[in-house]
Amino acid sequence: MNPEELRAKFPLILHWIQQTLSAHAARARPVASLNFPRLRSYFTPATLSAARVVAVDTVPLPPLTALGLTGFTDFENTDAIGITYLDTFFVQADYQDDESLHFHELVHIVQWNLLGPERFLAIYAEGLEQFGYRDSPLEEMAYRLEALFGKGGAPFPVEQIVARELNELVGI
Ligand SMILES: [Zn+2]
Repeated sequence: MNPEELRAKFPLILHWIQQTLSAHAARARPVASLNFPRLRSYFTPATLSAARVVAVDTVPLPPLTALGLTGFTDFENTDAIGITYLDTFFVQADYQDDESLHFHELVHIVQWNLLGPERFLAIYAEGLEQFGYRDSPLEEMAYRLEALFGKGGAPFPVEQIVARELNELVGI
């Protein structure tokens, strides 16, 4: 699909996202309320109290083919353990104690926040098409920072780093 065809589908995807978030709103908890001691050294209190997490048996993925988006079957068929939509992320229940996964999804929360929904979707979808899931720019950033977090060195300000990298990437 070319970028315009893709963009024309964004309202459908955002509608699906809103419905999915509404359906799970009662079970969404602020990340700040979880017992993850290290996250607060990396993210601001504003990010941690605005971000919500929902533990689920199966992480909800948008039905992209059904919404008319072609070329994303790999993504649709992944057995995802976490995914972020706007200010909320879903984690597979088996991983609800995994601080690194929460860190990774919080990086996506910051990206959604800084880019806004349309821009996030455009960059994410173009990245998937061009580079595949793991090397798409927004995932590469999340995995790289997650690996640094996993090494357990000195904390770093994630919001500032993500803002700088997005600025270099797309000029926010
Ligand atoms: Zn990710």
